Amino acid sequence: MKAFSDIANRGVGALATYEPGKPIEEVARELGIADPDSIVKLASNENALGTSPKAVAAMQGAAAEMYRYPDGGAYYFKQALATRLDLEPAQLLHVNGSNEALELLAHVFLGPGTNVVVAEYAFIVYRLIAASSRADVVSVPMKDFTHDLQGMLKAITPDTRVVFVSNPNNPTGTMVDGEQIDRFMDAVPDHVVTCFDEAYIELLPSGMQPDTLRYVREGRKVVVTRTFSKTFGLAGLRIGYVAAPAECISLLNKVRQPFNVNAMAMVAAIAALDDDDHVARTRGMVRDGLAYLEREFEAMELPYVPAVANFMLVETDAAPARLPGREVFEALQREGVIVRAMDGYGLPGYVRITVGTRRENERLVKALREVVGE
Ligand code: PMP
Repeated sequence: MKAFSDIANRGVGALATYEPGKPIEEVARELGIADPDSIVKLASNENALGTSPKAVAAMQGAAAEMYRYPDGGAYYFKQALATRLDLEPAQLLHVNGSNEALELLAHVFLGPGTNVVVAEYAFIVYRLIAASSRADVVSVPMKDFTHDLQGMLKAITPDTRVVFVSNPNNPTGTMVDGEQIDRFMDAVPDHVVTCFDEAYIELLPSGMQPDTLRYVREGRKVVVTRTFSKTFGLAGLRIGYVAAPAECISLLNKVRQPFNVNAMAMVAAIAALDDDDHVARTRGMVRDGLAYLEREFEAMELPYVPAVANFMLVETDAAPARLPGREVFEALQREGVIVRAMDGYGLPGYVRITVGTRRENERLVKALREVVGE
């Protein structure tokens, strides 16, 4: 008898399964911990301050309306975004988290005989969607854990369809600035779509955010993907958006499911978009948290990659600790602190740690000191 994998599409069996951050309840079950509240999760770059209070209020008000299908065209959601971002609604598309945006890009642009250009330690989902579309991956080394845009330009071939730039990048926490992006855009060939994945962009002060939407307004071959999962604290709802020239949006629109974003998510996102106070408090928490963690990692002599988003890549397999990242991940988990092992990214000597609240960061530091043997 044939196995399912014998008749599956070529390459699917060999794909690595994406390993998400472990849910708190799962760790509580595994460790037999009765009180899940005693566990600290710093594994999925979520907003430690929680959901935007404006979004919570809006969702409570909308709870009784959920017997209706959502608006498949996301009229009010796109209207709210268009006003906020100075774009036309036709330049926007609603998606089920920005992961869905990446998948729609693959449906439209990728297939056998095409390739994507990605940075070595960029967000791993680019590789997964390329593989499941049977496109090749051209991987470009990073410089100081940062996208090397000039190197990526050189790697483009006639078969390249999409260049992915994760900015800031997960898992390295680094970014490329507006000037580097402009130089890249001056030289990128016309047969290539550049996807700026800006999942963490709202965490940056507005003066630090590169203006990629300008290229959308100019009708360049640029796709910007954003999400409500991080800064706005709506990861559980699954909602994000794509900004791109209208012709590109209309192609992406053809390959999505009719009701790809649920009604509650749109209600919450529209409210969250106006919650400037929550965004400001989140930025403050992340800035203070990064400064605190940097000080503590330095005191522990743990090398880290200087970060601009709400997570940090920390090298555990360096002197004096010399512990593989997975060992540190497991030991921290036994202490009730969940971080992320990085072997799936080809970084077995590292862990990625999300910035939490002051209390959560202190819990992490205390547990880490025990694990690295101070
Ligand atoms: N892009 C990057 C760089 C990310 O880190 C993530 C979340 N891990 C996503 C996209 C996907 O986020 P979501 O689907 O929740 O919008």
